[in-house]
Amino acid sequence: SFSSCHSRFLNYSGSEYRNMNTTELKNSIDLKQVGKEMYSLIAELYPICRSITGNGFRQTLHRLQRIIPLTIHEVPSGMQVFDWTVPKEWNIRDAYIKNSAGQRVVDFQKSNLHVVNYSVPIRKKMTSAELKGHIFTLPDHPDWIPYRTSYYKEDWGFCLSHNQLAILNDAEYEVCIDSSLKDVYLTYGEYYIKGSTQDEFLISCHTCHPSLCNDNLSGISLAALLARSLSPLSVRYSYRFLFIPGTIGSITWLALNEGITAHIKNGLVVACVGDPGKTTYKKSRQTDAGIDKTVLYVLKESGREYEVIDFHPYGYDERQYCSPGFDLPVGCLMRTPHGRYPEYHTSADNLSLVKPEFLEDSFSKYLAVIDITENNRRYVNQNPKCEPQLGKRGLYETIGGRNDSAIRQLAMLWVLNLSDGHHSLLDIAERSCLRFELIQNAAEVLTKHDLLIEC
Ligand code: ZN
Repeated sequence: SFSSCHSRFLNYSGSEYRNMNTTELKNSIDLKQVGKEMYSLIAELYPICRSITGNGFRQTLHRLQRIIPLTIHEVPSGMQVFDWTVPKEWNIRDAYIKNSAGQRVVDFQKSNLHVVNYSVPIRKKMTSAELKGHIFTLPDHPDWIPYRTSYYKEDWGFCLSHNQLAILNDAEYEVCIDSSLKDVYLTYGEYYIKGSTQDEFLISCHTCHPSLCNDNLSGISLAALLARSLSPLSVRYSYRFLFIPGTIGSITWLALNEGITAHIKNGLVVACVGDPGKTTYKKSRQTDAGIDKTVLYVLKESGREYEVIDFHPYGYDERQYCSPGFDLPVGCLMRTPHGRYPEYHTSADNLSLVKPEFLEDSFSKYLAVIDITENNRRYVNQNPKCEPQLGKRGLYETIGGRNDSAIRQLAMLWVLNLSDGHHSLLDIAERSCLRFELIQNAAEVLTKHDLLIEC
């Protein structure tokens, strides 16, 4: 509900988390609670009829503004963005098919998936044969309504369950789509958290799907709550959250912000993060960028099943971020990829497909990736000719007495040996098979003793 969510937001910005770092956040956040909140945000946003433009998109951003102070941008229809044109704005108030008795046999008010998204307005009596040329169903899943769009071709249509189609036996129907397509705006949301450097971590999610939960209310919800969690922290990277319409939104953002893109050092497209499937990572086009290494490490350490797939120029907005003219280090961290689960782009991608526990698991992986990114540094050994004498500096005492002193000593030796300015702490963790936290801790101790300098 609004009030409980609002008060929790104040709590996050308040003293409890203020100036914490990401590790402290990771160790104190109630992940189970976050999973539940993500789910209730999805449930709240579910009924809204979103599209790539229009009031449903705005309404969604206004709801998110109660969680994070995001900026709403309005870009005029008709603007040229690289090879594309910002489309006309689409809005819809109502739609139905009435039978000869005047009853609504298909009703937009019952499911916004019933109308092909971006349908042009129509109000007409027509024969059953004419109507059926504009109807889409899923014969293999007769109870489900498909999700269809017609953004770039002016057309109209209805999506029905196959069972609904089977009972449309009248000779004539009254068809109404009360929509509008006008030169107004394309809307998107942006939230920037300033870190101690200009280097950026981009989190992007498409926000244009109507009543569909995994694709992609789950991504919207994860991004919003992640942004809220990071906002009061003291962070090294600056974080940029984008809530954009798929494809045209990332193209528009890139066209308007080309100068900023050089700052993007890491990025993730958030999609399909609430289903029961295993976590899947789609690598960036660069294939071995820092973000690729970090996500792979987190998934390996998670102890759970996962899959890594190579970059391919299809999917979500990583297609645009990874186009050759940008080639940004942006991957896609999801659970089951688009098209690989039967409920994808149907009415069965609903509130029973996504679960708080899967949302929580996805959120924790995003947080782990961010935490390692924040702490992954490169150092130069200040005593590279033979090992420095650790005992003389009291470094054995620092670690003596601890039952893990042998492994801590080994971590120091690895960090000293590989800190040549090229290997990052994550590289050292990988090469030594020691946990990242252990390597990070060794680097902190050695830095205090002037044996390392960060580069
Ligand atoms: Zn989709």
